[in-house]
Amino acid sequence: MAVELKKPRKNRPVWHKLTVSRVRSLTEDAVEVTLAVPEELRPAFDFKPGQHLTFQRVGSDGSEVRRSYSLASTPRELAEHGTLRLGIRSIPKGSFSGYANRQLLPGDVLEVLPPLGHFWAEIRSDRHYGSVVAGSGITPIIGIATAALEAGATVTLLYSNRTEESTMFAAELRDLRRDHGERFRLHHIRTRATGDSPLLTGRLTPERLREVLAAGLVDPRDVDEWFLCGPYEMVIGVKDVLEAAGAQRVRTELYTV
Ligand SMILES: Cc1cc2nc3c(=O)[nH]c(=O)nc-3n(C[C@H](O)[C@H](O)[C@H](O)COP(=O)(O)OP(=O)(O)OC[C@H]3O[C@@H](n4cnc5c(N)ncnc54)[C@H](O)[C@@H]3O)c2cc1C
Repeated sequence: MAVELKKPRKNRPVWHKLTVSRVRSLTEDAVEVTLAVPEELRPAFDFKPGQHLTFQRVGSDGSEVRRSYSLASTPRELAEHGTLRLGIRSIPKGSFSGYANRQLLPGDVLEVLPPLGHFWAEIRSDRHYGSVVAGSGITPIIGIATAALEAGATVTLLYSNRTEESTMFAAELRDLRRDHGERFRLHHIRTRATGDSPLLTGRLTPERLREVLAAGLVDPRDVDEWFLCGPYEMVIGVKDVLEAAGAQRVRTELYTV
């Protein structure tokens, strides 16, 4: 009897069109973009907190631009309201980020792939999640922190920015602290203004992080899983310090190399 062998079929991600329902200013140079996901596409856009979307756009010179942006919203928000939210910071001369910050309007349609990426958290109520992020690196973490806190877990977040005004999602973080109290340990580091303490004022170098840990702000061994997001140098430096201090699981997402 002849046996027909079939090649396993790979499920290639498919481009979809999603409509922008809101564009909101977060800081002078960053916007929050909300996408409406119709009922029939919600299963395709289901995601784990921390994953990202990929956009495709033909630029003014006719060249195709593809860029990734992390999801700032939660799977619960998608299920209950049918929305996905992103935080996009404008990079000088940036093709997609400039377009998103200066031109994008409600009603515009974007070409987008379903959520992808290995930087995600399995949310469990008995866990302590830790995070060290800089600038727009907050985007996946606000999604992870919101889902974790809503589930009853504990979250420690060290968040570095130039000033309070340049801090993306500052108001949402204040709300999370108000709603979840002691379970949300938020520490703002400011590089060009006064941070939460003298130790949290200035650049987040490996030396500074070692001092912060020595001062007892958080014991890396008490955290079940760490999530680091931002520029290469910062992420790698922080990872080394945390691992040397006993951190067991450290996940990283790099926005630039
Ligand atoms: C998995 C993943 C998730 C991401 N999530 C987010 C997010 O949630 N929010 C967000 O704002 N960005 C995020 N980024 C970065 C984003 O994908 C783009 O790289 C960024 O917006 C710049 O794209 P652009 O088209 O505007 O700039 P380009 O036109 O590509 O670049 C313009 C200039 O800026 C430099 N440049 C490119 N990217 C950066 C950068 N990130 N920082 C500094 N200089 C840069 C380039 O070298 C070039 O000189 C993510 C990246 C990855 C890989």
